[in-house]
Amino acid sequence: MDREKDESYALTEKKENFSEWFNQIIQVAGLIEHRYPIKGCEVLMPHGTDILRRSTTLLEEMLKENGNKEVVFPLFIPENMLKKETEHIKGFEDEVYYVTHAGKNQLNEKLVLRPTSETAMYPMFSLWIRSHKDLPLKIFQTVSVFRYETKMTKPLVRTREVMFFNESHTCHKDWEDAEKEVKEASLIYSKHISENLAVAFIASKRPKWDTFPGAVHTKAFDIIMPDGKFMQIGTVHNLGNNFSKTFDIKFKDENEEEQYANQTCYGMSTRSLAAIVAIHGDDKGLVLPPKIAPIQITIIPIMFKKDGEKVLNHCKDLYARLKKNYRIHLDASDKAVGSKFYDWEIKGIPLRIEIGPKEMEKNVVTITKRFDGEKSTISEKNLEEFIENMLDNIQHDMRRAAEYRQKEKIQKAIDKEDVNRIIDDKKIAKVELCEDANCAKKLEEAIGENYMGDDKTKENSKCIMCGQQSRYTGYIGKKY
Ligand SMILES: [Zn+2]
Repeated sequence: MDREKDESYALTEKKENFSEWFNQIIQVAGLIEHRYPIKGCEVLMPHGTDILRRSTTLLEEMLKENGNKEVVFPLFIPENMLKKETEHIKGFEDEVYYVTHAGKNQLNEKLVLRPTSETAMYPMFSLWIRSHKDLPLKIFQTVSVFRYETKMTKPLVRTREVMFFNESHTCHKDWEDAEKEVKEASLIYSKHISENLAVAFIASKRPKWDTFPGAVHTKAFDIIMPDGKFMQIGTVHNLGNNFSKTFDIKFKDENEEEQYANQTCYGMSTRSLAAIVAIHGDDKGLVLPPKIAPIQITIIPIMFKKDGEKVLNHCKDLYARLKKNYRIHLDASDKAVGSKFYDWEIKGIPLRIEIGPKEMEKNVVTITKRFDGEKSTISEKNLEEFIENMLDNIQHDMRRAAEYRQKEKIQKAIDKEDVNRIIDDKKIAKVELCEDANCAKKLEEAIGENYMGDDKTKENSKCIMCGQQSRYTGYIGKKY
């Protein structure tokens, strides 16, 4: 815990070695403790927990607005339920953790720690849904899920316990209604990523071979990390009636005829915290978007022996006044001022207010923005109005900066050599493809990297593989 307070702990430069910088910053900023004695499991520290709690709450509010109700399902899934959906289990069987014993006794049936909750929830859905009047059924939960990752683990990015996993599951009367839900969910995720996290993203339809096990189609939200690799932070799936047939989720329609429900599911996890760190952080530490920051403003009293008490009382009054509208902290600790600046800077708090005898005399405060270091002297009288504008502007500017950097990381490729050159240059290649899914597959095989997926093209162009009229714009690159 004290490592974050060690001022001599110098960060690696982000540009010089992104991966090392990332691993350091998440520790010194007090987000995670990586020394927990199980590989791929880490402790979420107070600042990390606060940020994730805040960002999850914003997402959950939008889901509730969409009609999704919150539930909490058991962590255990009976093995026979997990094995019921053959496609689904194929996608997970090497990654699930089993509980085989209780004390010294072997269990009659092995229990699975949920890798995701379809097979926990859907047997219940089949009990809850009887008539078309029970539809749509829309629920979500925010829980940990467990996957035995065999690839190299990385804190917040690839872990064996995925914390703050927010998963929604919905049932609908027909395919169209499920498709509508997929659109609504995609809109919620787009809004959350760009407006709350202030991060740029690529939304694309995953290729057939990379669709969620058991889904008809998968839409993914990827961000491009500073090292040019893409990282999936959210997915939305239309499950059709694959699962409802397996789990017998049926209802009587208006004509008293029995139908299988159409289902969707969508999820997001701690990777959203990894995205905030990676996209916004700099060589001084984290930079938090105001909407996500658990503390938006820190007040730091500049106290000298003579007027110390007076300044502190003044700061306390200001704290009480601003507390009504903002998430705010008054740092009245005994630490040196320089050390306080350093602490809050590394934690990425958007605004810092300094008040000393000089400011008090003139009824002003000095405000510094974490995002660009800009300092202003503001009259105390108009403070709220000024702060309001400043927080809005920071949120907006951070998003613009992220979009700009994403643009720089995507480059159009006209042939395979071009794709290789772009990926070697630590970027994502944008390509035009025809309707034939084999062309995307062949491209992936020729390049040896991941085809992220595609969206309908807006260009009049030729397929990079076969030269026919292009129909889709796709993306290919290295992935996390
Ligand atoms: Zn083609």
